[in-house]
Amino acid sequence: MAHSYDDQNIFAKILRGEIPNQTVLETEHSLAFRDIQPQAPTHILVIPKGPYVCFDHFAQTASDAEIVDYIRAVGEVCRMEGLEVDGWRLIANAGRDGVQEVPHLHVHVLAGRTLGRMLQPA
Ligand code: 5GP
Repeated sequence: MAHSYDDQNIFAKILRGEIPNQTVLETEHSLAFRDIQPQAPTHILVIPKGPYVCFDHFAQTASDAEIVDYIRAVGEVCRMEGLEVDGWRLIANAGRDGVQEVPHLHVHVLAGRTLGRMLQPA
């Protein structure tokens, strides 16, 4: 699958400081901020700062330093928010069937209530 990055997507604008965000954590290669339309009491998006469309694009082309930083940032966000006690869910949507709205890799960190079964019927 070819990945072409659109630098006008909303998360690219957030990374350039053109749109404000509620930052939870910033590291050398990653940014975590609160979702504008939270679907759970805790709903945080974690993104790499580099121009990656989805998880596969990131896994194929990001540097080891970016990948380590990103995975560690996700874990740190969970710890910072105290989620290890009651648990959380990570979701990474990709492409059409994944219903990915913003074409910049992000994982959703969801927590704060029982989240129900993993998938709703289509
Ligand atoms: P996706 O469907 O691509 O996995 O999720 C995109 C997420 O980005 C949605 O949960 C949506 O609420 C969030 N989102 C869209 N625009 C903005 C924005 O301008 N700021 C923030 N913080 N979140 C946004």
